[in-house]
Amino acid sequence: MPKAAPVPEDLNPHHIARHQFEEAIPYVDDLKGWKGVSQWLFEPERVVKVTLPVVMDDGEVRVFRGYRVLHNTARGPGKGGIRFYPTVDEDEVKALASWMTWKCAVVDIPFGGAKGGVECDTTKLSTDEKRRITRRFVTSLGDTIGPYTDIPAPDMYTDPDTMAWIYDTYAMLHPNAENLGVVTGKPVDLGGIPGRGTATAQGSVFVAEHLLALGAVPGLSQIEDAVVSVQGFGNAGRHAAFILRDMGAKVVAVSDSKGGVFKAKGLDLEAVEAHKKETGSVVGTPGTRRIGVKGTLEVECDILIPAALENQITLENAERVSTKLVVEAANGPTTPGADRILASKGIVLAPDILANAGGVVVSYFEWVQNLEHEQWEESVVHARLRTKMYRAAEQVLTTYRRITERFPEYQARWRQFMPEAKAITHKPDMRIAAMATAVGRCKAALDRRGVWP
Ligand code: GLU
Repeated sequence: MPKAAPVPEDLNPHHIARHQFEEAIPYVDDLKGWKGVSQWLFEPERVVKVTLPVVMDDGEVRVFRGYRVLHNTARGPGKGGIRFYPTVDEDEVKALASWMTWKCAVVDIPFGGAKGGVECDTTKLSTDEKRRITRRFVTSLGDTIGPYTDIPAPDMYTDPDTMAWIYDTYAMLHPNAENLGVVTGKPVDLGGIPGRGTATAQGSVFVAEHLLALGAVPGLSQIEDAVVSVQGFGNAGRHAAFILRDMGAKVVAVSDSKGGVFKAKGLDLEAVEAHKKETGSVVGTPGTRRIGVKGTLEVECDILIPAALENQITLENAERVSTKLVVEAANGPTTPGADRILASKGIVLAPDILANAGGVVVSYFEWVQNLEHEQWEESVVHARLRTKMYRAAEQVLTTYRRITERFPEYQARWRQFMPEAKAITHKPDMRIAAMATAVGRCKAALDRRGVWP
């Protein structure tokens, strides 16, 4: 029999974000006023597009495109990272900004959502070129960012150095003012907070650990001895691999943009890291078997951590995912079609807006530290992050259990409330539970504030 042609899938991140939002609405506690509010809550409040002329090292001028989207400020000022990546575009930044709104709401920190990006390939840029792009971008954004309006942070291919340049540029434009709170993820010796670098990974691990302890994952009760596969060896993936290994898990596979490595007995992560430092990739680490970039997603394991890009687990490969728990350390790694397949296979998924929120939680701590002129110890950051992540995981799981148990009631309530809308046919998953929690909190804030004027 010839193989069936793959089903085409809409991979536009903004369409996916809208789908996830709409799927959650029927489960929001208070449905009153939803018809208008849903549009208000999904559309970004502001989209800034800028053109950035930059002098390159060879003296030529090159033009880059930059974006900053302020998605929603119902619960506080905008918050979210800036990524430097070749495929950045408006729809991607809009999706990522909306995910930030839900992320901040699900972990209950007083921020709305925002995101930024510059379309560029940092692997082909010198440090000086990257700095000039950053400074020009911040100058072009002007007062659309600020300590009380919209606060950037690191994301893919930006780091504490980039945040230092953002701070410095903003501070040059706003002399004689306190500006440290304009950006988070700064170097520790420039108003940064200890533990921000590992925060995304540490938050993912706290979520996984707590879900296991609460009995959310059939057949898996602890991290110790769990077999783990990680896609990505950047900030989130690399730290997650080390933290889990140090907790007694067996990390059998990791990958980067060039490929992956596998070792059934467990990887020597120090050796993998040393090899990447030396050659630029994990591929070829002695004593490992080479697998593809997406090969990590199909490794038989207990915990799978996609920690790279959007749209990695799709209709094309979801059937071959063989794990008990997916922890989305990346933003948007799983498509809606793949969500359905994973659920039908009994795989539990800790969704991105919960699982990778550790980064923004510690960004929040950094912002508070800056505004209050405080300096927090790493042990304090660690303990407070754990409290936030455990609580959010527990709240999402409670919502998940409630809406699953009472599914027919939710179906009937929705049919009655919005007869013209699509009926809900499939049972909710943890993503829907997390989204319903987050969207419900944003709607409650809007209801309290009312519509101006
Ligand atoms: N870029 C990170 C994220 O996607 C962190 C955002 C922040 O710290 O503001 O969550």
